[in-house]
Amino acid sequence: MLKIILTIAVIFAVYFFLIKKPAVKKRREERADAEAKKPGLDEEIMVECVKCGTFVSSKEAIIVDGKYYCSKSCAGVK
Ligand SMILES: [Zn+2]
Repeated sequence: MLKIILTIAVIFAVYFFLIKKPAVKKRREERADAEAKKPGLDEEIMVECVKCGTFVSSKEAIIVDGKYYCSKSCAGVK
């Protein structure tokens, strides 16, 4: 039984040793891509809907005449 566990452990060790470096590299590339795509101005902040007072993220908020609205129905647009 112990031999089986040791064999599995060795397989896992080899497996992780072989895949570890490419996986880390890929993760770094993905992170670099995400940072490159994200402009500095695009910070997500919570804004209050001027109509109903619901807080909504600035990305999801609808801006009409410089005022933030939580939804199209609050903003009065279709
Ligand atoms: Zn609202």
